Parts: sequence; C-alpha cells; structure tokens
Amino acid sequence: MRLVFLGPPGAGKGTQAKRLAVARGLTQVATGDILRESAAAGTAVGLEAKSFMDRGALVPDEVVIRIAEERLSRADCREGFILDGFPRTRPQAEALDMALRRGGLSLDRVIYFDVDEEEVVRRNGARLTCTRCGEVYNTLARPPRLAGRCDKCSGDLKRRADDEEATVRARLKVYRENTDPVRKYYAQRAKLTEIQAVGEIEEIWHRLEEALTSW
Ligand code: AMP
Repeated sequence: MRLVFLGPPGAGKGTQAKRLAVARGLTQVATGDILRESAAAGTAVGLEAKSFMDRGALVPDEVVIRIAEERLSRADCREGFILDGFPRTRPQAEALDMALRRGGLSLDRVIYFDVDEEEVVRRNGARLTCTRCGEVYNTLARPPRLAGRCDKCSGDLKRRADDEEATVRARLKVYRENTDPVRKYYAQRAKLTEIQAVGEIEEIWHRLEEALTSW
C-alpha cells in the first residue's frame, strides 16, 4: 500500500503513521525527520535545510524532492510506504506522481488529517521529542511516564525549536498557502479521504483504519 498523510503540523500524522507502519509492514518516510537527522549530522544539505526549518519556512522543492525520491527508491519501500510530511507543495505532488509513474506505480490513497488551527497551536506546544531515539510524546495526549525522560531509552525530552508558538503560527501560514493546494490536487484526482483528527489517539486510529477499508 502506498499512502500519503496530509494535514497541518501537529495533526498527529507521525503518531498514526508509526502505528500503521508496524501494523501493515509499511515504511514510514517522514521528510521532516530526514531533514532534522541531516541537520544534526552537519551535512551540507542538512545545514542549508536548518535555516529554513528554524523559521518555519519550507525547504526548497528541489532539495526535498531529491531526498524523498532517494528514500523511496530504497528496498524497504518496495512493499509499500506512508509518506508523512511530503508532498507539501503542488510541484512536490507532481514530482511524486511522475517518479511513481516511472516505476509503473501510483498512490493508493491520501489521508487528510483535519484539525482546527487553535488545536494545532496547543498540540505543537505540548509536543516533546527524545533527543536520543526520536520518540515523540505530548504532555496532553501522551505524556512520558517520568517527566522529561523517554519511556523507551531514558533520553532527555526536548521541545522542537520550531514548536514555539510564533514559529507554529508561521508554519500554519505556510501550510495554508502551500499545502492546501496539495489537498485540492488529490481531491481532483479522487485520491483524498478526510478524517477528523480530533479526540483520543485511539479514536483517530479507528477512523484511520475505517478510512483504509472503505474506499
Ligand atoms: P515536520 O517534521 O514534517 O513538521 O517538518 C519540519 C520542517 O521540515 C518543516 O517546517 C519544513 O521546514 C521542513 N520540511 C519537511 N518536509 C518538507 C517538505 N515536504 N517540503 C518542504 N519542507 C519540508
């Protein structure tokens, strides 16, 4: 199964993508995670990307498209993937279609996670990430057992620099301007299923499973 998860930052795409990847044997491909790893490793691409990410702007299409295409061409994506955070612009969506078509493939479905903007600001402010293993927590919906410590590896939990309120609002503006056209792009191609991404993580999971069995 080849899926795209679309929705504003903090809609819960990553949480659900990780769970679905395990449940269905798919590979989660999150361009934000790849970019953050490259920045932490100090690669040229990573450092260039960081300057955009820190202010909530999008990394240029040609950089992200190259990264996504390279990642999708690896063996672990052959049986299927969940793209989380890509495509975020119409040129990215077109490039993805073209790359898949070259391999005789197409997307099965695009799931849109619908959540209102004030909820997004609240959720991003509550998000904590493990500095060691990358596990994501949320002090509201999924707190760690011990404050500030990762349940899995005991690493330090930190808030992402781009989850500060001003940056979240900037990311939302960028999202409205660039990513809403992507939603329309897939709706026009009858690929889009919308789910309400509000409520408990478990409730959203059930809506997602339902959406995946009923198109
Ligand atoms: P995320 O982890 O998906 O919230 O992404 C964090 C940041 O990485 C975004 O605010 C962008 O700066 C950058 N980024 C991730 N994916 C993309 C993409 N598909 N296109 C452009 N920038 C991206």
